[in-house]
Amino acid sequence: MVDYIVVGSGLAGIAFCEELRKRKRSFVVFDDGSQQSSRVGGGMYNPVILKRFTPVWRAKEQLDVLPGFYSAIEKRLGVTLNTPLRLLRRFVSVEEQNNWFEAADKPLLAPFMCTTIVHRKIDGVHADHGFGEVLHAGWVYSGLLQEAYMKELDKEHRLYKEAFAYDALEWTENGVHYDGLNAKHVVFCEGFGLHKNPFFNYLPLNGTKGEVLEVDIPGLEIDHILKSAVFLLPLGGSRYKVGATYKWKDKTNAPTQEAKDELLEKLERFLKIPYKVTAHLAGIRPTVADRRPLVGSHPEHSNIYVFNGLGSRGVMIGPWAAPILLEHIENEGEIPSEMDAVRFQKRWFKKA
Ligand SMILES: Cc1cc2nc3c(=O)[nH]c(=O)nc-3n(C[C@H](O)[C@H](O)[C@H](O)COP(=O)(O)OP(=O)(O)OC[C@H]3O[C@@H](n4cnc5c(N)ncnc54)[C@H](O)[C@@H]3O)c2cc1C
Repeated sequence: MVDYIVVGSGLAGIAFCEELRKRKRSFVVFDDGSQQSSRVGGGMYNPVILKRFTPVWRAKEQLDVLPGFYSAIEKRLGVTLNTPLRLLRRFVSVEEQNNWFEAADKPLLAPFMCTTIVHRKIDGVHADHGFGEVLHAGWVYSGLLQEAYMKELDKEHRLYKEAFAYDALEWTENGVHYDGLNAKHVVFCEGFGLHKNPFFNYLPLNGTKGEVLEVDIPGLEIDHILKSAVFLLPLGGSRYKVGATYKWKDKTNAPTQEAKDELLEKLERFLKIPYKVTAHLAGIRPTVADRRPLVGSHPEHSNIYVFNGLGSRGVMIGPWAAPILLEHIENEGEIPSEMDAVRFQKRWFKKA
């Protein structure tokens, strides 16, 4: 008998497992490697939407939780995951500078946006209008996190590297039975894999394909994230990550030439020195029609739950939302209505 079966060990599953560890609950994890959003994702966190200069949903609450969450895992696993970094948004016009100042005056954004324009000359980067600086941004190495976390689960004999077979799930007096295991609860953290889940695929998880490149730029020396039409994230030495694309039709994990061309065209708008592409990766972000997470109970079946819809912000949302879900499961804690999966329950009854 275990307290929990967790399906999926991406950012959502890891955040939930961490809560289970804190509360000393027993659990096992299933992961079949079918999704790779957390493995390939950019891993950045920042509290400002840099296209429109608007606040990220509940950014302050999420940033309050983030450092403690990742540093606890870093200490236990002996890896470096969280690197707070300056984030400079490149301006392309005076109008953008003005929009920045206007936004930086708003109470929700003021703590996160510097009001002096950074006129920094960076060799190899074209930036006539300077940069706006975002505060409290950084990067979590989510690929390494997932790899190290799964290794630990494996060592602890908690990890089943296989697909969860939905039709083998049975309900018992005390919870559920699954393939020789008795558990009190099952939490599905499947990312875009949710669309195969007959219990939760009524939820409007659209999925947005994203592609990133790793590039070597020997002539560039920056120790901050640079955001323009694409982001440039320093990985150490002359290595950088460039991303990301947003595509709504293709739902495969295969990198495409079209996305590579798009990323390089955007990169070359501001990067004026030679570079070499060293890797090209793709994954599906678990995005939702209304851009809010999907967290909560099943509308009809007891003891099964969903933790999904982290969209393009899994690094920030996961650690903040996981304790809310656990509190809901164990003590009927309230889930903020914007992310409670109950908002779509009519779709289940319509489907059923
Ligand atoms: C190109 C790109 C760039 C991104 N950049 C950022 C960024 O800069 N900052 C940020 O915060 N977020 C970013 N994201 C988004 C972020 O990566 C996601 O929010 C996050 O990875 C979602 O985590 P998840 O655990 O819900 O899903 P996933 O990472 O997809 O994990 C789901 C896991 O469940 C497993 N699984 C699914 N179904 C089953 C099943 N039936 N049985 C067993 N296992 C199963 C899968 O194998 C997978 O390991 C980016 C994403 C992409 C693709």
